[in-house]
Amino acid sequence: MNFSGALLKWYDQNARVLPWRSHPSPYRTWVSEIMLQQTQVESVIPYFERFMQRFPNFESLAMATQSEVLSLWEGLGYYSRARNLHKAAQLVMAEYGGKLPSTSKQLMQLPGIGRYTAGAIASIAYGQSEPALDGNIRRVYSRLLALEEPLRSPASEKLLWSFAREACPNERAGDFNQALMDLGASICLPNQPLCPQCPLQANCQAFQQGSQNQIPVVEKKAPVPHYIVTAAVIQQEGLVLIQQRPQKGLLGGLWEFPGGKLESSDANLAACLQREIWEEIGARILIGPAFGVYKHAYTHFRIRLHAFLCQLEPGQQVTETDSLRWVQPSQLAGFAMGKVDRQIAENLNKDLLQ
Ligand code: SF4
Repeated sequence: MNFSGALLKWYDQNARVLPWRSHPSPYRTWVSEIMLQQTQVESVIPYFERFMQRFPNFESLAMATQSEVLSLWEGLGYYSRARNLHKAAQLVMAEYGGKLPSTSKQLMQLPGIGRYTAGAIASIAYGQSEPALDGNIRRVYSRLLALEEPLRSPASEKLLWSFAREACPNERAGDFNQALMDLGASICLPNQPLCPQCPLQANCQAFQQGSQNQIPVVEKKAPVPHYIVTAAVIQQEGLVLIQQRPQKGLLGGLWEFPGGKLESSDANLAACLQREIWEEIGARILIGPAFGVYKHAYTHFRIRLHAFLCQLEPGQQVTETDSLRWVQPSQLAGFAMGKVDRQIAENLNKDLLQ
């Protein structure tokens, strides 16, 4: 099944115009591929352009503070990508003389680079014949092969990677991989693929069987858990208390209003918040008026967060540390936050203006 000629011909006429494709460099390819993990192209474009303006090369990124990098990433999600990008830039400067390594094997030694990203960078930035398999390409290949196994099963993964390896041409491997990404994004769509416009019709077993709408087979996901969460906007003498999340895990390194998940042993939301603040910060608080209910869906769960304006109980004190700060509400914009905490911060500033 040799389809690279037809695919590349289509790509030459239909390639998407994307900012990382103009003035290509290993650095720009790497940043774009990390930003594109789990994220739509349209969402990435403005972040990529801002990032390039502020950090045009490895050196400027390596020299930045983590909080500068997280602030520029705010809103793009999956913040471990930003932390890893920053760490990887420092490693590239320290160990590779400021030049991104060119083989998949070396690339995969850097934080945040897995098999797909390594293949994409090696092929796009260095022209190496390396396969890449992202969500779009998986879908295209599963249809070319009329794969009836669930897409993410170990057997499918093995088959798709080996197919990708064989299909990747020696010449123009980067264009070939990008052509597949573009085809998946514009023609071989998840629902109702546009087969009459597809250059790979003749190579597509699903199209020939008429099964393109049933493939890929996706296993049903378990229901997404839903959590009730509380957060305290603790105010004192015009300042508000924020806390930095641990580096590892969800929203790692970002700042938030302290609080936590409602447990079955909590009598109500106020009891939950008082317990959380005592456990996390070692302080007793008085719960004041409600300050909004905020809903958010993360990848694996959803939350409904109840915020409250709070005060420390008389006699209680909270001393600042590296991860606990008293700040003016107007300074909150300078601290990288997740979506919900940013909304709370903005609402707080709006209230103070009224
Ligand atoms: Fe996808 Fe249809 Fe092209 Fe097959 S023919 S690759 S299903 S768009």
